[in-house]
Amino acid sequence: MSEKSTRKIRLYGKGSSPCRRCGSYGPIIHSYGLNLCRQCFRETAVKLGFKKYS
Ligand SMILES: [Zn+2]
Repeated sequence: MSEKSTRKIRLYGKGSSPCRRCGSYGPIIHSYGLNLCRQCFRETAVKLGFKKYS
């Protein structure tokens, strides 16, 4: 067994970071530092005052 840590640190792409609201590893919106999945982003965006995107 190697003691070398081969921990993967993903900064981009799928699995980089879960949605901080529901923990889902789906399509995450990193814009504005939200780190929310699309569903949570839509719900949160409205509360934050973002205009509702069609
Ligand atoms: Zn979510």
